[in-house]
Amino acid sequence: MSLTVKVLWAMLLGIILGLIINLTGMNSPESFVNTYVVEGLFYLIGKMFITALKMLVVPLVFFSLISGVLGIGDIRKLGSIGLKSFALYILTTAIAIATAIGLAALIIPLFSTPTATAASFTAKEAPALSDVLINIIPDNVIHAFASGNMLQIIFFSILLGISLLMVGKKAQSLAEGIEVMNEAMMHMVNIIMSVAPYAVFALLAKAVAELGLDLLTQLAVYVIVVIAALLLHLFGTLMLLLKLFSRLSPKVFLNKIRDAQIFAFSTASSNATIPVTLRSVTKRMGVDNSVASFTIPFGATINMDGTAIMQGVATVFVAHVYAVELGLSGYLTVILMSVLASIGTAGVPGVGLIMLSMVFVQVGLPLEGIGLILGVDRLLDMIRTSVNVTGDAVVTCIVAKSEEEIDLETFADLEAGSAEELEIHSEDEEALAQTVHNVEKNV
Ligand code: ASP
Repeated sequence: MSLTVKVLWAMLLGIILGLIINLTGMNSPESFVNTYVVEGLFYLIGKMFITALKMLVVPLVFFSLISGVLGIGDIRKLGSIGLKSFALYILTTAIAIATAIGLAALIIPLFSTPTATAASFTAKEAPALSDVLINIIPDNVIHAFASGNMLQIIFFSILLGISLLMVGKKAQSLAEGIEVMNEAMMHMVNIIMSVAPYAVFALLAKAVAELGLDLLTQLAVYVIVVIAALLLHLFGTLMLLLKLFSRLSPKVFLNKIRDAQIFAFSTASSNATIPVTLRSVTKRMGVDNSVASFTIPFGATINMDGTAIMQGVATVFVAHVYAVELGLSGYLTVILMSVLASIGTAGVPGVGLIMLSMVFVQVGLPLEGIGLILGVDRLLDMIRTSVNVTGDAVVTCIVAKSEEEIDLETFADLEAGSAEELEIHSEDEEALAQTVHNVEKNV
C-alpha cells in the first residue's frame, strides 16, 4: 500500500472511531477512554507529529529558498516569479470571497436562521497596511527564525541567496553545502511522514470524538453553504485557472495534491503542512525547487482562499441573523479587508476567526456573531485549510509552467515521487552541478 492510501485508511478509521466514542458518550470528561485514550494517547501522538512537522518548517524553508535562489541564478527571474505569484494569490483570494458572498446571499436568506446566542469574542484590530509592509523586514534575524515569522524568513533567505551569488566562486563550497542540507531536509520530511498514518488516525479520532455532529446540525445552513462554496472554489475556480493558465491536467493535479490536502485537514495549519506541500509539488508534480521553495511558504502565509470563503459566508450569515443591511459597499469592504487580513496573518489553526473579527469591526457587524459560529469552526478550519494549500499548489504550478520550471514528464507520471521507502542515496547530481555553475558564473 502506498503511504497516501495508508493515510486515507487511517483517516477513515480515525473518523469512525471518533464517532463511536462521541456517540456512546465515552468522551465525557471523567471517563477512562477520554482521560487515557482521547486526551492521553491520541493527544500525545497527534501533538508530537504536528510538532515534528513544525520543526521542519523553518530550516526547510531556509535551505530550500537559498538553494532555489542559487539554482535560478538570475535576479530578474526571481522578481518575475515573485510578482506573478503575488498577483495570482490576490486574484484567487478575491475570487474565493466573491464566490462565497454570492452563494451565501442567494441561499442563506431562504432559510430562517437561529437567533443570536451570545458568546463573547474579543476583536482584534486589523494591522495597518504600512505595518504589514514594514513587518516583512526582520529587525533581528534570530528573532524572525525563533518565532517562525515566514515573510521575514523568506525576505532574509532570498537576500542571503542573492548575496551568495554575488560573492561568486568563493561561495561555491557553501552553496554545495546548502544544497546538501536541502536534500537532507527532504529526507527528514520522508522520515517523519513514515509515521503519518498513525498520527492522522490519532488526530482525527480525537477531533471527531470531541466535536461530534450535534453542533453541525444546529448550524446546518451555515456549514453547508461554507462547504459548498469551498468545493465550488476547489473543483471549479481553481481547476479552471489551472487549466486556463497552465494547460496542466486538473485530474492529475488533484491526484497528486491529495497528501498535502490530508495533512492540511488533519493539522488545520497551512504552515505546518509546508513540508508536505513542498514535497508534493516538487517530487510528485515535477515543479522545480527554484519556484516551489518560494511560492509554497509565501502562499502558506499570504494565500488563504478557504479562509476567505468562510469569512464571506460568515459575514452574510451574521448580517442576516442580526438583520443588518450591508449593501454593495459593505460587501466590497469585506472583500478588501479579507484579502488584506490574509496577507498579514500566518496560516495557523483558528486564525480565520481572528481575521473575521477584523472584518466585522470594519463593516460594523456585532462581534457576538462570531460566538454564533465558534462551535463549528474547528471542523470548517480543517476543510478550509485543505483548500488553502490547494490554492498554493495551483498557483505554484501556474507560475512554474509559465517560467518553464516544471518537468512535464514527472507531472504526467502518476507514480512519480510516490515511492515511499526511505531512500538513503546520494544527492541530485544535476541540481548540484547547476548551483555550482550559477555561483561560478557570478565571479
Ligand atoms: N487554519 C487556516 C490555515 O492554516 C487558517 C484559518 O482559516 O484559520 O490556513
